[in-house]
Amino acid sequence: RPIYMERIVQDGIGKMTMLAEVKDIILRGEVESPVLLQADEERLHQLLMVLMDNAIKYTLEGGVIRVACRKLAHTVYLEVEDTGIGIQPEHLPHIFDRFYRGDKARTRQEGGTGLGLAIAKWIVERHGGKIRIESKPAVGTRVLVTLPAG
Ligand code: ATP
Repeated sequence: RPIYMERIVQDGIGKMTMLAEVKDIILRGEVESPVLLQADEERLHQLLMVLMDNAIKYTLEGGVIRVACRKLAHTVYLEVEDTGIGIQPEHLPHIFDRFYRGDKARTRQEGGTGLGLAIAKWIVERHGGKIRIESKPAVGTRVLVTLPAG
């Protein structure tokens, strides 16, 4: 059934507000309305939770996280961008692997199993979409998801 991306993004931001506030991180949602998508609502919610959870975990105090969603032709573009610690280029090829975690020293203080992005990828691919990550150490990370609108 069709779902509204505004709702997914608003719910996601709502759930993460407290976590972000503790770290003095600003959450910004930008959804062009109305973005309708043929998808499993719970899975899409879970996908956004993984991406926002990572963005908050790997962003220092005072950072900004932007969640943007738009539809062009028959494709939905979902982006989660942070101004966090970024990912070293040598880790990038492995971050979607199950149980893979970046820089041990840095991530040890943050809880996590290394399953988040594997789950995210699984959800996106089950919807016939693609996920990729661009990142610059000490600048930030951008996760780009494309999904066929169906
Ligand atoms: P969890 O399963 O709880 O999410 P995790 O964050 O370690 O644990 P993944 O979500 O799979 O596992 O991410 C894998 C690795 O990719 C992380 O350990 C981290 O090094 C890196 N990473 C993921 N998202 C970001 C991000 N937004 N900024 C910087 N590094 C990230």
